[in-house]
Amino acid sequence: MSPMEYRRFGTLDFACSALGFGAMRLPLHGAAPDDIDREEARRMLRRAVDLGVNYVDTAYNYHGGASEEWLGWALADDYRERVKVATKLPAWKVERRDDFDRFLGEQLERLGCAIDFYLLHSLDADTWRDNVLAHDVLGAAEAALSDGRIAHFGFSFHDTYDAFVEILEGSDLWEFCQIQYNYMDEEYQAGTRGLSAAAERGLGVVVMEPLRGGQLARPTPQVAALWDAAQRDLESCVPAAVCPPESPVEWALRWVWEHPEVSLLLSGMSTMEQVEQNIRYAGRSTVPVGAAEHAAIARVRDAYRDAIPIPCTSCKYCLPCPNKVAIPDILELYNEAVAYADLDGARRRYTWIDEGSGADACTQCGTCEERCPQHIAIAAWLEKAQTFLTVVED
Ligand code: SF4
Ligand code: SF4
Repeated sequence: MSPMEYRRFGTLDFACSALGFGAMRLPLHGAAPDDIDREEARRMLRRAVDLGVNYVDTAYNYHGGASEEWLGWALADDYRERVKVATKLPAWKVERRDDFDRFLGEQLERLGCAIDFYLLHSLDADTWRDNVLAHDVLGAAEAALSDGRIAHFGFSFHDTYDAFVEILEGSDLWEFCQIQYNYMDEEYQAGTRGLSAAAERGLGVVVMEPLRGGQLARPTPQVAALWDAAQRDLESCVPAAVCPPESPVEWALRWVWEHPEVSLLLSGMSTMEQVEQNIRYAGRSTVPVGAAEHAAIARVRDAYRDAIPIPCTSCKYCLPCPNKVAIPDILELYNEAVAYADLDGARRRYTWIDEGSGADACTQCGTCEERCPQHIAIAAWLEKAQTFLTVVED
């Protein structure tokens, strides 16, 4: 196996492994998210560390709150000093100034060790204004940095590029950020513009969802055929391509690693096989992505986009809906279920939509359709989505 490769982490004096270990999809004994297969997950983590991974990412709410405690236990003995530990404050739960200290204290206790990288979790414009700014979370974080409870401070993010810039420019405390980024999401959320903006400010950038929650690792038959053809082309070209990607996963990861602004990417690994595979890929993460590979990725991207049934651009001009229907989010879930053949994932994420904001709250008043520049028959799609995204019990 190739040795791990290391990269710059913003302006910090830390050479991070190209791959970070995400502790959010650990193996389980059963269906309950907090029933972690602790021994197997620890074997996986230690194998990753032995092979050079030096960044581990968890959060207050991962695995129903069990991930942090597991991580502290799994790193006991001499493994703790071989990695940087990152965890996240549930920023959306902060309702008063001392909530920051309360959550951080609980997290330090769960982990039983120092926190190297502390993030405000899943910031969007609303959480930034209504929780972070409203309750002086930044002041509380500054105090935690000063007294050493945390070593470095950043945020993870899910919203529009404009919201990303607002947050990025909203504090001088940021040393790093964590964004969703993959070959399908160059213009989605922070996107390539956000990646560049963060790097220009000297932030380390951690990439999450390089496989779009696994969607890019499970290609549709049409996309799988495109990858197979690209593989054959690369293997047959003269001179032969250097180290062509061996799977759709490696194609996707290599595309992310090609961006020098990316410090590391996180993978939430659930099996030892995934650990070995991803570390093998990280060991060749600096292999250049050539023109032929870029052309193949572009064909795959087009195939996914051509399969999207609703031409929604997420512009949000249709909002607000008088009945609080989360229109763009629901249409996006429908699109993903179809284009990525990921109905189970879409149905799971549909349950995360705020209560009362589902498609079933639509009264077909038509207000949103008058505002939609894409002239989408929103009410009709919502009706379909409600059926499609709702698991029908037998
Ligand atoms: S048609 Fe439905 S989704 Fe659109 S504004 Fe009216 S209630 Fe809201
Ligand atoms: S206005 Fe139309 S395109 Fe824009 S988010 Fe709403 S449904 Fe999508």
